[in-house]
Amino acid sequence: MTFKPRRIAALMAAASLFAVLPVTTAAAPAPAGQTAADVIPARTEGIGPFKRVVLRNVTMIDGTGAPAQGPFDIVIENDRIAQIKSIGSPGAIDPAERAAPGDQEMDLAGYYVMPGFVDAHVHLHSLSDSQKVPSDYILKLWMAHGITSVRDLGSGHPIEWLVDIKKRSERNEIVAPRIDIYPMFHQIRGPVNDAATARAVIQEAKKRGADGIKFIGGAPEDVLFAAIDETKKQGLHSTMHHAQQLVAYADVVDTSGAGLESMEHWYGLPEAMFTDKRVQSFPTDFINNDEQMRFGEAGKLWAQTAEPGSDAWNKVMDTLLERKFVLDPTFTAYLTSRDFMRMSRASWHDEYTMPALWDYYRPSRVNHGAYWFDWTTEHEMAWKDNYRRWMRFVNDYKNRGGRVTIGSDAGYIYNLYGFGYIQEMELMREAGFSSLEVIHAATQEGARLLGHDDQVGTIRVGRKADLVVVKGNPLANLKLLFGTGSVRLNDATGKVERVGGIAYTIKDGIIYDAAKLRAEIRDMVAKSKAERGLPPGPMVIENAGTAN
Ligand SMILES: [Zn+2]
Repeated sequence: MTFKPRRIAALMAAASLFAVLPVTTAAAPAPAGQTAADVIPARTEGIGPFKRVVLRNVTMIDGTGAPAQGPFDIVIENDRIAQIKSIGSPGAIDPAERAAPGDQEMDLAGYYVMPGFVDAHVHLHSLSDSQKVPSDYILKLWMAHGITSVRDLGSGHPIEWLVDIKKRSERNEIVAPRIDIYPMFHQIRGPVNDAATARAVIQEAKKRGADGIKFIGGAPEDVLFAAIDETKKQGLHSTMHHAQQLVAYADVVDTSGAGLESMEHWYGLPEAMFTDKRVQSFPTDFINNDEQMRFGEAGKLWAQTAEPGSDAWNKVMDTLLERKFVLDPTFTAYLTSRDFMRMSRASWHDEYTMPALWDYYRPSRVNHGAYWFDWTTEHEMAWKDNYRRWMRFVNDYKNRGGRVTIGSDAGYIYNLYGFGYIQEMELMREAGFSSLEVIHAATQEGARLLGHDDQVGTIRVGRKADLVVVKGNPLANLKLLFGTGSVRLNDATGKVERVGGIAYTIKDGIIYDAAKLRAEIRDMVAKSKAERGLPPGPMVIENAGTAN
């Protein structure tokens, strides 16, 4: 894209507006649950919103599942899509059909435009969490990867901490996606032991600003089902990680029957399809809190359940389809389990992973998801088989009309914010989705899950101007969406180069130069390494001498 010189005055005028935005600066007191060092700085990036922006000569993927269309001129007025205008045929633009000029013009020939992405499973961490990274770093990694809406599934912070950030994002005072808040049930007030309190806790969460509830633990059977029932009564959304402590009395058929709307990961699904047992087969010395044991045995779980396409498999799928239950698989969250080397050496770690986060990922008996005490080929082979069966279920579910979303659950297990989301798209492609089905899951399906599909998730006149702009065709190569782009041999120069990376993320009609956001993130990482006396580039996993 090029900004035309004659538009510079308008641009400068818009930029100067930022100086008078009501901002919460670093000097203001930190909100509840946030330390002074965590404060998310006031926004300095992004231009607009403008009275009228014309994105000229684009190819559009509208999010509904429709194929790419173009050439189009897309007009944005303030924060809304105002016009989607066909301007002729590919290679034969009719100048008479072009949209009227805007006060901001972007020539986007060769670019694809999609709805802003929805990450259906995130945790906004902060310096005071175990990951020890600033929230600003995470928010910018999301925005640099086209993620304009997120569903936050809980943290140790009070609900109010996230409500404050959500509101600042709504006012575009900070660089951040839209945020929906789903606190973890057992963290709202602590563990709950009776049904009446469960209902009171759900009511309290709603008053404090929750959009939904995420269930994972700390809930005996009667408490859990009372709480799920109360989410429905209160009009709150709900999802669940069917953790091993609960799954014996709450698999996905049980919880979806009680009104649960969606599930995270995959636990609770194979358990619902057991034909020769009630409970997962564990070794006799199994202790759930030993994470290598837990994740190691999890890798053998799909092999213990009904075969793909069998009666039990189809019966459970039919039930979930009938209930319009949503699967949010987060394949990427477990990827290290089947390929430790690939995930731990992913090229983006070199410049985009904070050293504190690297420390958190390192094999540890304490940190969540750092279960590489002695991870073997046998563990990885079991997980590869696990993935084949799990992916088959998710793809079958989609093929039969089931709803599936894209969620990343980054910040654990070598899974990096933003990058993990694009990896999830590739894994969905591996599961059998076409790239068009992947984009549909990332946009309209995500928005529908949040209940915001009347505002975002599709490119349509009247909808919010939340858009992703990328040079090249993401349907042919999803890797173009990674911050690190895609590696290509340039035959003209004989050089190896990187192409792609999202060019612009647009939210509420505000246009962010995604390359600039990425440069800022790389600076944060470089600075943090320098402060620790670490060289730039790759970080090592080992922190002791080795025998070989
Ligand atoms: Zn999570």
